Amino acid sequence: MTIHEAHKLLEEKQVSSVELTRACLERIQQVEPEVRAIVTLTEELALEQAQKADKTLAAGSSSPLTGIPALIKDNMCTRGIPTTCSSKMLQNFIPPYDATVVEKLNDCGVVIVGKSNMDEFAMGSSTENSALQTTHNPWDLSRVPGGSSGGSAAAIAADEAIYALGSDTGGSIRQPAGFCSVTGLKPTYGRVSRYGLVAFASSLDQIGPLTKDVTDCALVMNAIASYDSRDSTSVPQPTPDYTQCLTGNIKGLRIGVPKEYFVEGMQAEVQTAIQAAISKLEELGAKAEEVSLPSTRYALAVYYIIAPSEASANLARYDGVKYGFSAREAENMWDAMEKTRQYGFGPEVKRRIMLGTYALSAGYYDAYYLKAQRVRTLIRQEFDRVFEKFDVIVTPTSPTVPFKIGEKIDDPVQMYLSDVCTLPINIAGLPAISIPAGFAKELPIGMQIISKPFAEETILKIAYAYQQSTDWHKRRPEV
Ligand code: GLN
Repeated sequence: MTIHEAHKLLEEKQVSSVELTRACLERIQQVEPEVRAIVTLTEELALEQAQKADKTLAAGSSSPLTGIPALIKDNMCTRGIPTTCSSKMLQNFIPPYDATVVEKLNDCGVVIVGKSNMDEFAMGSSTENSALQTTHNPWDLSRVPGGSSGGSAAAIAADEAIYALGSDTGGSIRQPAGFCSVTGLKPTYGRVSRYGLVAFASSLDQIGPLTKDVTDCALVMNAIASYDSRDSTSVPQPTPDYTQCLTGNIKGLRIGVPKEYFVEGMQAEVQTAIQAAISKLEELGAKAEEVSLPSTRYALAVYYIIAPSEASANLARYDGVKYGFSAREAENMWDAMEKTRQYGFGPEVKRRIMLGTYALSAGYYDAYYLKAQRVRTLIRQEFDRVFEKFDVIVTPTSPTVPFKIGEKIDDPVQMYLSDVCTLPINIAGLPAISIPAGFAKELPIGMQIISKPFAEETILKIAYAYQQSTDWHKRRPEV
């Protein structure tokens, strides 16, 4: 069921939130041994919240999200509930406060069924970097669900909850959404508060919804998007009603198709599916034209300077003193810190800290970090120029279908390449969605729709029109 379907049944009293929650919990029991998308199950809390939601519903003061079961990626702080970032470093961390997005969902009467698995500290594209467990793609259990929000995406595809929150630094909402055939939106940088989101790369991170369709995506955005004075990069703009743009009318909309995104190494089935999807949009009245974004080829390199640099600074706080894992058997303070970081962090996190520390060190700062920031500006300017003439840009979400578990884990560069189509969007701070756009055999293919800052409505409008005339998003895996 989608949020809007469940909401209708709740309003009509055909089902209660407690029943809906029990159904999700049963489904979780049934599929979790195979999918392994959830790191903390909050059954008791969920049933409590569901009872409360039923009272709100009975009183007639519900919101579209009241009583609807959801999952939260495990890098968003939840008061009294472990928030591990799928890392040993935070395995015992129980936050004393809620992230703003969690607060906002609570205000809507959310039912939280659990926290979802992720790559450790959101670093990865397959969820294999989780120190806790490996999540399997419900479409083919031998394959990855994408990452780093792989737990959230897999769980929604497998009907373990009705929607989920994810975070996206270089593709971590969109790429798993593409791999699991669900809808995932990365909002404009600054649109959704990052307060209470465990920081990976602060200038790139953004929270967004993973849902079963575009209408649900709009409903979750209505709840979570807002200005927040506790996040200094939050933009003081009023939140529109994101359901207003779901008209189905995209006549005259101008689509740019950047040739640089149809890269070498792209799977033929992916290319064919996206071209077919673009033809569909043209049938619906949009006009597509090829465009060029020549700096795209630098995006991967820029990202892997900037993201690790910011990560190395953000992760300096894990010293075993204030909170989180602490190696106590040490000779002195320095030894304790070293051991804490040696045993607390996994290999990918250490790799990023080393890359970032190197890029920021005296003598290399200008050559790497500063240069990357300059190229970042060029990339952003190129997008600005395209958006003078086009409403949206359409690309594949990922150059391939989901790969096998273990296939890329020993080759970081291959792993990094699975985000070539999504990274530039974070570099430029733009909003983008991934929606289901077909299958290669039984493996999902995602289409990415990008727009200029704060034009989420344009994206939702076009994605909605596409979903009105296709049913890829309605297919469910047989798990
Ligand atoms: N896969 C990219 C990385 O490893 C992006 C991750 C993300 O968006 N959190 O950094």
